[in-house]
Amino acid sequence: MLLQRQAFVIHRFNPFVMKRRTFLQSAGMLAGATLIPQQAWLRPLLFPAGQMTALRGNVSIYTERGGTIACLLTPEHSVVVDTQFPDQANNLISLLKEQNAKPLDLLINTHHHGDHTGGNIAFKGMVTKHIAHANSKTNQERVAPEREQMDNTLLPGTTYTEHHTEKVGDETVTLHYHGAGHTNGDSLVHFEEANIVHMGDLMFNRRLPYIDKSSGADISNWIDILRHARRQFDKDTLFVFGHAGEGYEVTGTGDDLKAMAHFLKMALRYGKKAKKRGDSLEDLVAKTTSFPRAPEFKGNERGVRRVLSAVYAELEEA
Ligand SMILES: [Zn+2]
Repeated sequence: MLLQRQAFVIHRFNPFVMKRRTFLQSAGMLAGATLIPQQAWLRPLLFPAGQMTALRGNVSIYTERGGTIACLLTPEHSVVVDTQFPDQANNLISLLKEQNAKPLDLLINTHHHGDHTGGNIAFKGMVTKHIAHANSKTNQERVAPEREQMDNTLLPGTTYTEHHTEKVGDETVTLHYHGAGHTNGDSLVHFEEANIVHMGDLMFNRRLPYIDKSSGADISNWIDILRHARRQFDKDTLFVFGHAGEGYEVTGTGDDLKAMAHFLKMALRYGKKAKKRGDSLEDLVAKTTSFPRAPEFKGNERGVRRVLSAVYAELEEA
């Protein structure tokens, strides 16, 4: 977690505890002391806004509500990976526009879940290229009508199947797909110059993960994806995680990927043993508060049930 400690907060405001003047000063740090347009300071009075944290190069993360967003931002270029929900995306857009009012070079979705794509609609008309894995787009098309969200859905215009590279200013952004994991459409997004990889929801840092079997999740292959990522990238790579447990960071190293792979392996093994004993899913949920040999992965009963349901479903597929 050393790398995370080196990161520094460049913007944080909470309108309920900060006076407007303090907020303007704080926002000015990011904005190069330009004036905040009226709308931009009115918005956080309605919605508590999030935090932009610089990582390295020109890459930052934005955290508010939903999956972690990564941004590349220079006066000439901008890239956004994932969009949380519309209100959060609008808060982020206000911050981005302070430095760069040009259209985004790239909008990327790591996968289709609403806490990563719900804010896409806020970027409508502002994006040169919008990319996701082909399965991610298919999933988004499938779930939007189910949730009666078709009018508020912005689908990626470009898809890929294995690898896809875009040059953006001095940065090279490559998307990698290594098969099904958290869903069947998860991209790893590598900012090659900054050596930062957004893992999307392939990483729940010490938090019980959502395993979306209805969208083709595959726990065994997920373990392989994490192992492969540790080999594919290097010791200096900084990873961004979709989510983290309380007290844990949404960025980290290959050691955190190793811990996640270990958790998934232990969860599969735990389910296998229980199934052999004849435990029903309900029996197992009732007796589980944490997972053997991976107790740092925490969650409530709903979280335990979600993991064990997916584990049982996968064991039945085998
Ligand atoms: Zn997800």
